[in-house]
Amino acid sequence: MQSDILIIGAGISGLTAARTLAEAGRRVILLEASNRVGGRIHTIREANEIIELGAEFVHGKPPELWSLIEEANLETYELDGTMLTFEDGRLQSRDEEQEATPILDKLESLPEPDQTFADYLAQHPLPEDQRRATIGYVEGFNAADHRIIGTQSLGLQQAAEEAIEGDRLFRIRDGYDRLPQFLAQKFTEAGGTLHLNTLVERIDWTPNHVRIEAHQNAQPITFETAKAVITLPLGVLQQNSVTFTPTPDVLHEANRLRMGNARRFTLVFREKFWANLKPSTLSQKLEALSFLLSFASMPPVWWTPHPTPSNTLTGWVGGPRSAAFANFTPNQLAEAACKTLAQIFSLDATDIRSQLISCHTHDWQHDALSHGAYSYIAAGALDAPSKMAIPADNTLYFAGEHTDTTGHWGTVHAAIRSGQRAAQQILDQAT
Ligand SMILES: Cc1cc2nc3c(=O)[nH]c(=O)nc-3n(C[C@H](O)[C@H](O)[C@H](O)COP(=O)(O)OP(=O)(O)OC[C@H]3O[C@@H](n4cnc5c(N)ncnc54)[C@H](O)[C@@H]3O)c2cc1C
Repeated sequence: MQSDILIIGAGISGLTAARTLAEAGRRVILLEASNRVGGRIHTIREANEIIELGAEFVHGKPPELWSLIEEANLETYELDGTMLTFEDGRLQSRDEEQEATPILDKLESLPEPDQTFADYLAQHPLPEDQRRATIGYVEGFNAADHRIIGTQSLGLQQAAEEAIEGDRLFRIRDGYDRLPQFLAQKFTEAGGTLHLNTLVERIDWTPNHVRIEAHQNAQPITFETAKAVITLPLGVLQQNSVTFTPTPDVLHEANRLRMGNARRFTLVFREKFWANLKPSTLSQKLEALSFLLSFASMPPVWWTPHPTPSNTLTGWVGGPRSAAFANFTPNQLAEAACKTLAQIFSLDATDIRSQLISCHTHDWQHDALSHGAYSYIAAGALDAPSKMAIPADNTLYFAGEHTDTTGHWGTVHAAIRSGQRAAQQILDQAT
């Protein structure tokens, strides 16, 4: 099959590039291995709950994401409510002094040399509780190993987050998947062709000619095109599950980056039992519970979608600690979670279990179409995403959250930005 431009991957970056190019009048084919669009945006619906298995939050006010939300006419709400910690066997209001950000603020000046966060902490010691909270924050937020992630990338990220009010969190009321679905509709309306169930296996290329071998519904199929936008996740590129001939230099840069791991699961309960704990001096705060941090427990982070009424609790562990849950089934996760919740709320685990309707999770680490949750930057590799964003012979254009050059790696808005950049590079080249 022939086209002007082929896009590989119908996650939010591929859909953004595909829509932009189709609306600019190009003949565009979009190939996606899965039977749905959205990639690491994956929403399910059960018992009147909107459950996000991938991206959940809109972090702050990134303009490219908000203009899309507005164009798609999607309702959003901002998370608010109380933040609690469980420490020293006690549930308590979160102490603002434990915020991790003061040390991260210092990194905004991009101190030389770029070193791992662990090395930086060794040179700038913190009291033990602050150190644990800071490492927990850095690993949890970035799905990263603090012994690998670079201080300069953390500083750049901190400044980038501040510029978009990144500490404010929003949710799309109807589910994040409405966004990729909207883009897919715009793409096909503009004349683009979407092939689902099409697993790309081989990319042979010379300047201005790309030949792609794939399997579509188990049948071999070949595509030919002048240019290709490749939005394969970093984990997929690093596994070499798609063969490039010849190997573009970009792939060497990909190997300098890291794919982070995280495990998240959402428990759906019959009722919001934590709001009815008696006697509790925190009962009002529990009613409005937003985030609950318990760095010594597994998982260390919990949240609710407050203020939206919901009987769900979501557990999250990012970075190396997520390995403890790596091969857990939803049932095993639920068992472990109920034990942790029993400790936190001083209840019997069996009573909590009896309230549980279901547990939902997606194992991104073992998903062959992602091989991890999202990317982060190892010390010394801050230049790698910019190098990945340079087209190979004006023929292969790499996009995806890992190719962001603005400090927002690992987010939906970074992925959108990268898709816009790749599309613009192709359009600019033609003028
Ligand atoms: C658990 C989790 C929580 C997250 N939470 C947030 C959050 O709250 N806020 C936020 O902003 N971001 C969050 N993220 C990150 C966000 O989801 C991603 O940064 C973003 O969705 C990545 O988009 P992408 O287009 O770069 O990649 P993807 O969405 O991964 O798209 C790549 C596409 O390529 C396809 N593909 C893979 N291999 C092949 C192949 N061989 N042939 C054809 N197609 C292939 C995949 O199926 C996929 O559809 C989270 C991610 C995870 C995993």
